[in-house]
Amino acid sequence: MSKIQQSQENRIKQALYDSWHRQVNYLRISVTDHCNLNCIYCSVSSMLPLKHEDILSYEEIETLVSVAADMGINKVRLTGGEPLMRPQFTTLVRMIAGIDGIDDISMTSNGILLARYAEELKAAGLKRVNISLDTLQADRFKRITGHDRLKDVLAGIEAADRAGLNPIKINMVPLKGINDDEIIDFARKTIEEGWNVRYIEFMPIGIPNGDVSGMVTTAEIKEQIQSLGELEPYSGLTGNGPARYYQFPKTKGTIGFITPMTEHFCHSCNRLRVTSDGNLRPCLLAREEINVKDALRSGADTDDLKELIQKAVNIKREQHNLAGRLAPDTDDRPMCQIGG
Ligand code: SAM
Repeated sequence: MSKIQQSQENRIKQALYDSWHRQVNYLRISVTDHCNLNCIYCSVSSMLPLKHEDILSYEEIETLVSVAADMGINKVRLTGGEPLMRPQFTTLVRMIAGIDGIDDISMTSNGILLARYAEELKAAGLKRVNISLDTLQADRFKRITGHDRLKDVLAGIEAADRAGLNPIKINMVPLKGINDDEIIDFARKTIEEGWNVRYIEFMPIGIPNGDVSGMVTTAEIKEQIQSLGELEPYSGLTGNGPARYYQFPKTKGTIGFITPMTEHFCHSCNRLRVTSDGNLRPCLLAREEINVKDALRSGADTDDLKELIQKAVNIKREQHNLAGRLAPDTDDRPMCQIGG
């Protein structure tokens, strides 16, 4: 058996399982809590940003991912905050792409800086991007995000497409009275421009910057877009997440629904998160964390790190209790630190 076959063979045997028999193969890393937008439902501006020395260095992230890959992680998503705000972000992508066993690296971004970086990110090994976009109207974009940058996002989407960072998924969070009248406009984009649009139910987490009480359910979204045609289930979109995909007949684009509020998908959870300040977080919606930064900085060896990773996986809960939450958990970390 060749060395490569041997290493593939070893990897097949390595798999991480949690206490509920779910295989965990996906690491989501918040590479920075900084963001160049200040969305009404995301509390970046109300938080003191982390100091540079408090966030994991690229070398520390590389070490952690290498150990995780050895345990069966093969997919990594880089998020934040806005990942492209971290200097030399492409270097991190290249470092992770060089790790044996990692075969899928993706990023979640607001797209503002993508036109500048799409080509080099692709060359460094980034496979695909999810881009967050809640409105197609310039004045509304400014109202929701605090910045007049819609044009930059649209240019970022085009650049990502040209660079081959496909499939590009556009994430929209509909909110009543804020952008819910555009649900249908996004659905039309799947027909007219082949976009892959995903509607995400708003979750009551963190401290919003404005009144964002009006979550729109997936059932309500479906009702709105049914005037465009009958949705057919679609299974051709690669991903590691919980979205359920559909398509209007004879169109290229797709529609995805992510339903953390009305139909949790914890039974298929395959992920572990790394916060920007170096904690392993088993669930976006549960506060338990395992500090891995201190271990990385005090000379922990591979076995020590494996033990911490396994510990974090072991404490994954069977399911979150978001639907039963009456008010936002304002004492918890903001999304930008955990990684959205
Ligand atoms: N800056 C990057 C971006 O804009 O995609 C990554 C971080 S951002 C926090 C990731 C995603 O989380 C965005 O699509 C955003 O809309 C979503 N998000 C933030 N707060 C949310 C909430 N309370 N409920 C649902 N989605 C949320």
